[in-house]
Amino acid sequence: MTEQELILENEMIEHEFQALLDDYAHTAHRQRTEIITKAFHFAKKAHAGIRRRSGEPYIMHPLAVARIVVKEIGLGSTSICAALLHDVVEDTDYTTEDIANLFGEKIASIVDGLTKISGGVFGKHASEQAENFRKLLLTMSEDIRVILIKIADRLHNMRTLEFQPIEKQYKIAGETQYIYAPLAHRLGLFPIKSELENLSFKYEHPEKYAELEAKMAANKERQLAFFEEFAEPIRRKLELLDYQFTLTARLKSVYSIWKKMTTKNIPFEDIYDLLAVRIIFEPNMMMSEKDQCWMIYSALTEIYKPHPERIRDWISTPKANGYEALHVTVMGQDGQWVEVQIRTTRMDEVAEKGLAAHWKYKLGETDESELDRWLRQIKELLKNPEPSAIDFLDTFKLNLFASEIFVFTPKGEIKTIAQGATALDFAYMMHTQLGEHCIGAKVNHKLVPLSHVLQGGDQVEILTSQSQTPQPEWINYITTAKAKSSLQAFFRREERKLIAEGEIRFGQALQEYNLTEQEDTVIHRMLNRHQVQQPQQLMLLIGKGDVDLTKLPEILKPKQTSSWWKAFWKSNNDAENQETAIGNTPAKEEQKTATAEPQKKKRKQIILSEDNLHKEYEFATGCNPIPGDDVLGYQEDNGMITIHKVECPEAYKLKSKYGKRIYSAVWNYHRRQTFLATIEIKGIDKVGVIIKVLNVISKNFEVNIHDLHVRAEDGIFIGVLQIFVYDTAEIDEIIKALRKIQELNSVNRLTHI
Ligand code: MN
Repeated sequence: MTEQELILENEMIEHEFQALLDDYAHTAHRQRTEIITKAFHFAKKAHAGIRRRSGEPYIMHPLAVARIVVKEIGLGSTSICAALLHDVVEDTDYTTEDIANLFGEKIASIVDGLTKISGGVFGKHASEQAENFRKLLLTMSEDIRVILIKIADRLHNMRTLEFQPIEKQYKIAGETQYIYAPLAHRLGLFPIKSELENLSFKYEHPEKYAELEAKMAANKERQLAFFEEFAEPIRRKLELLDYQFTLTARLKSVYSIWKKMTTKNIPFEDIYDLLAVRIIFEPNMMMSEKDQCWMIYSALTEIYKPHPERIRDWISTPKANGYEALHVTVMGQDGQWVEVQIRTTRMDEVAEKGLAAHWKYKLGETDESELDRWLRQIKELLKNPEPSAIDFLDTFKLNLFASEIFVFTPKGEIKTIAQGATALDFAYMMHTQLGEHCIGAKVNHKLVPLSHVLQGGDQVEILTSQSQTPQPEWINYITTAKAKSSLQAFFRREERKLIAEGEIRFGQALQEYNLTEQEDTVIHRMLNRHQVQQPQQLMLLIGKGDVDLTKLPEILKPKQTSSWWKAFWKSNNDAENQETAIGNTPAKEEQKTATAEPQKKKRKQIILSEDNLHKEYEFATGCNPIPGDDVLGYQEDNGMITIHKVECPEAYKLKSKYGKRIYSAVWNYHRRQTFLATIEIKGIDKVGVIIKVLNVISKNFEVNIHDLHVRAEDGIFIGVLQIFVYDTAEIDEIIKALRKIQELNSVNRLTHI
């Protein structure tokens, strides 16, 4: 580089710095130019000799980020300094301590936060991604300025993305679309959000972008001419009202047009709202801003007819990110719908610069803003991270993307909830307890199921029942992060209980079969056989009743094939290998065992078929087992075997008292005989649902309905349905079909009657 070129380059840098100071001078912030100048010179020296891919000296990047920070986000000197210094620790030999010594703790801690989340939020591995993302949230909840500067950094990188190699362009654009644009949206930075989305779209779909951009350019003249004609009568009217105002036209971005085309599945030509008109006025001090917005609305609709369903009042209830405005859609001169946004200058600043402006106006007020509340929520989520960082990311993203609707409590209190939220989400939002016992809701005084999707303006009353508990399928009925994490926490607690229960049962079984000494070996083998890794997982299976502990003594037998179950079934089905003959009498059994080695004690088993019913075995009358149920047999004094369900309380007693008389049992039924089974259905008390239930059963299954008994409780009904079925497989199918009925909250087989 020649001397001359170096001088020119230096002039360019100084010029950019002057522009930064000018931007700063135009703000209402205290003018602390000294520290900003110091930060600039320090960063310039630190990055000296380094260039960006574009060929520019590196310092041009921090300068550009600092300008975005002040001009487009509206932050002050601390943030400007941090922006100027944001890549120093990451890219040079200076440390956070150096920054702290020179510029103080505050600036140093912001730079530190920025350094921690430097590089991509998305690493190579999913878990790494999530961890980086968590870091990002953590720094954000510590000082929101970190994330604001990070967004400015990203915006400048997106503006200069053309200099990156293609694969990097994809990665950066994808990440921007995935996380930075939604974050900008959540923080109320609308222009930045839409620029980020638009630039991402440009690099991800270059051809589509070029095509739409050309179409818009061709359309632009016509749109602007239309706007002039549309605006003229509004201008005259507002002048008559003596308002200071600006009337601007905003053309939709390429990305938002494309989004509309794809979500509504319409061609470019059918998009009517390419243009949005904004009225920004200086309010009169004598009247509330809200009243004046409605006055202007009234003036506007005297000229153009409003669309009856397209009024959005973000003034009475601002968006969670602080956005306020009155949106109205009116019919323009040639029958074209036009959206008009009415805002005061203050509202406009909040809309453009988001949170920073919001804070400026909120200064001195003590009540917590929606944004503070949101940040607090993030902190809470971070305090109880999900077991897997990936789940956490999903949960958080739910929170980020949602736009809100307003709904009312029965007392008329207004609540904000994510669009698409269900009655169950609402219950969880009000209180975890309310969510966990929720059985349905009344929306606008009508009964609806848990899964009902709420609409803006709904009045929602939650119905609960103490006997209700969270069900696994609820995960399908919720959309909000809060409900999701509460539900998961509930199941984790339940799981811990089941594990404890499993440990107790396992301990008892060890004692019963005198295996306490061999506990480690038993556990080790059982892990293999059930193909689980952790003893905890095994205890969970036991706690759930998925492991037949009566088979525990078998586990120490030396003969092992790859799977315990395989071995077990093989021994039952292989006639030569059969340890006891079908329906053996006890006497025969004893003979056989007598000849065997003592530790190879044969297990007693009965095969249940239609043929030997009443001859060799009977069904217990208390628990009514049916083919497919896990069952065991108990040999009565007369030699007849009674078949109980494994979980039958009676069977537990027999097992512990008369272990030697217990038979294991396998089903060998061929659907020749039906059994009575009971299904319990619960749901919202809605006329017609019983008809639906009966329809589903009679249309799809050839079963006889024996009895149907229905009672209502607190607006829900509980139906007990007795039907004749062949086996559990058939019941399972019926239950599956019934669960598809929307009005039903739960469908379960009753096993203990
Ligand atoms: Mn940077």
